[in-house]
Amino acid sequence: MIVQAHDPAFTEMLAQVRHFIRDICMPLEEQIDRDDQIPEPVVEQMRALGLFGHSIPAEYGGSGLDTEALARINIEVSQAAPVIRARFGGNTGIASESLIADGTDAQKRQWLPLLASGRITGCFALTELDAGSDATALGTRAERTDSGWVINGRKRYITNAPIADLFTVFARTDDSRRGGSGISAFLVPRSTPGLNAPPGPRKMGQHGSPVGEVLLDNCRVPHEALLGGREGQGFRSAMKALNKQRINLAALCVGPAIRLVEEMFAFARSRKQFGMPVAEFQLVQQMVAESNTEVHAARALVLETARARDRGEDVTMEASMCKLFASEMCGRVADRAVQVMGGAGYMAGNVAERFYRDVRLFRLYEGTSQIHLLNIMRQMQSRAADARN
Ligand SMILES: Cc1cc2nc3c(=O)[nH]c(=O)nc-3n(C[C@H](O)[C@H](O)[C@H](O)COP(=O)(O)OP(=O)(O)OC[C@H]3O[C@@H](n4cnc5c(N)ncnc54)[C@H](O)[C@@H]3O)c2cc1C
Repeated sequence: MIVQAHDPAFTEMLAQVRHFIRDICMPLEEQIDRDDQIPEPVVEQMRALGLFGHSIPAEYGGSGLDTEALARINIEVSQAAPVIRARFGGNTGIASESLIADGTDAQKRQWLPLLASGRITGCFALTELDAGSDATALGTRAERTDSGWVINGRKRYITNAPIADLFTVFARTDDSRRGGSGISAFLVPRSTPGLNAPPGPRKMGQHGSPVGEVLLDNCRVPHEALLGGREGQGFRSAMKALNKQRINLAALCVGPAIRLVEEMFAFARSRKQFGMPVAEFQLVQQMVAESNTEVHAARALVLETARARDRGEDVTMEASMCKLFASEMCGRVADRAVQVMGGAGYMAGNVAERFYRDVRLFRLYEGTSQIHLLNIMRQMQSRAADARN
């Protein structure tokens, strides 16, 4: 069963999430940023609320939300520090989508209920030193043996790797084929000998969301670990998941921007200079009004694209537009929030200062802004060519 955004059950779910985000998570944001850790009782509440499994089909223990419902949840959860969503975002996003799309029945039955309940944490290990935007340039290799596969390579910048229990590892299995077609994906449990995922370096922001390397040194997995049981399909599986994931990520950019508009508006009305609230100055009003307008535009684009995907339309170009516009918009809004708050917005512990650091990442991962611009143009050209034929 798929839960849609207009179902009464979804309205109730959204209200519960709103309460959790506003009353439990927001008061803890500063502590999480300082300690670089989300308290375990908060993670336990995420499990109880079903947050780890919102996008996973109900038959595997998830909530089976459609794209619009998921976007609405993401807009809600991301109004608190983005690391809150990052804790469960792999399970209900990039780390489970390829498995849902192309996993074998046995793989789905083995892993999806564990991911949906949050009993295990998943991660998506694609990026390497020489394979960032050019993801198909990866150097990780998997060699077939009688008993399975031997994987060797080194991944970096992998969200949740230091705490993950299950790694979706992308490796080249066929050197004779170029691009994505020689790449396969493997489901590798943390306990597998030869897999190491040490604690990662400290980042600019999103403290509390561990990111690190995955070292694969003669890491042996059985044949059953090959995603979908088919060689050379891994990259295609990842790409299939991407349209949905880009809409998810765009929704995650809308939430912080909503929050920042609320915060800058409240600040501008309370902070007095020259004998009046700074909200009375038209130059300040411009920053707040432009931010609010851009938030509404991004939200509308994300929800419309989500609905189009739910109708079965091809949204490859629109999903890229969502990711590009919403992440750039969020960066502009965060910058204005600091500006509206003046020196206060630059001080550690201030909400604008924290979000400014946290949201910078949105323009980098899951396709940089430049890569999305290229993708939009490529899609326009391919649609124009289709129209001519
Ligand atoms: C905190 C964090 C978490 C992450 N989590 C994950 C994860 O869970 N799993 C995972 O697999 N990866 C993850 N990543 C990796 C992320 O997806 C990559 O960092 C991203 O794809 C960019 O790759 P890169 O860092 O190598 O930059 P590069 O590709 O080296 O890009 C450098 C610059 O060149 C530009 N550029 C590159 N190619 C072109 C081009 N053709 N045209 C124009 N400009 C171009 C880029 O836009 C950028 O401005 C994460 C990264 C970070 C920072």
